Amino acid sequence: MTALRNIFLFLSKNKRLTMVAKKYGFRFGASRYIAGKNITEAVEVIKSLDRKGLSVTVDCLGEFVDNEAEANATANHLVKLIETLGQESLDAEISVKLTSLGLDISNDLALRNMKRILDAAEQQNIFVTIDMEDSLRCGQTLEIFTLLKLSYKDIGTVIQAYLYRTMEDMHVLNPYSPSLRLVKGAYKESPEVAFSEKQAIDDNFKKIIEMHLRNGHYTAIATHDDDIIEYTKQLVTKYQIPYSQFEFQLLYGVKVDRQLELRREGYKVRLYVPFGEDWFGYYMRRMAEYPANPFLHKNKFTGK
Ligand code: FAD
Repeated sequence: MTALRNIFLFLSKNKRLTMVAKKYGFRFGASRYIAGKNITEAVEVIKSLDRKGLSVTVDCLGEFVDNEAEANATANHLVKLIETLGQESLDAEISVKLTSLGLDISNDLALRNMKRILDAAEQQNIFVTIDMEDSLRCGQTLEIFTLLKLSYKDIGTVIQAYLYRTMEDMHVLNPYSPSLRLVKGAYKESPEVAFSEKQAIDDNFKKIIEMHLRNGHYTAIATHDDDIIEYTKQLVTKYQIPYSQFEFQLLYGVKVDRQLELRREGYKVRLYVPFGEDWFGYYMRRMAEYPANPFLHKNKFTGK
């Protein structure tokens, strides 16, 4: 299983395959996880989720951009997405990857593009989360986040439980009262920077969930792990954390019954909804988490 996981994670960064995949459109069951090729298709999916009481954070797929024109085009596309979402009365946020906005070209370019996005989002009252990518970009991402947090209220980022540096990052971020999405971590990392044993990752995950909730900051617990979800439920009961201070987040297309069950139990549930033609890297990372995927379940929302 580990070998298969590594293969999928390796493929997720292959630029040639990404180009080929873009040309040929969704394949191998990718539509189970991806809400369409364009904004119009994605909005239809978001509306159907909204009718079920599920909130969303929308991701316009794309990452590891290596030229300025493409980075600026991605920012334009995100501004358009924000304007479209602003016209609908949906509980919709957006998620962005700094490498899609030019982080690998320069911090300044990514920062400039982020400011354009945040200005548009501020006008439409839309919250923006900066996704966390691989560990090489973690420091830069947090630097940009803390800088922007000084000027923009509705911005959050992501912390990955598998990184050794995570506990220290949590202490550094605490004075900013950040809204954080806490995750296990989805990239292939070396044992020099990250835990690889499930138990160690889960233990760290539980620690940062408790820490952030008890510090009184908004916490998105983004996981499909029943044990972690159960742990969080017990924690919020024990410390009387208000339901308005946290939410569960799951990926569109994963554990659909669990999403609806949590919602029925009264928890806020937000789905990460990706769309766009650059689907290959995202899909490979989902496969790495659960390699049996393409040959298993159908998406209960779309039937595909
Ligand atoms: P796991 O222990 O991996 O899985 C628990 C159980 O959930 C598994 O046994 C399996 O039954 C089920 N499951 C998990 N994944 C799948 C799947 N793909 N298909 C079907 N079943 C599955 N990672 C980042 O590095 N940066 C981010 O910014 C980021 N944002 C995220 C946002 C959201 C809303 C979510 C839910 C995840 C995000 N992730 C991100 C991914 C995260 O880091 C994990 O890789 C992913 O959530 C799998 O870990 P898990 O917590 O679900 O636990």
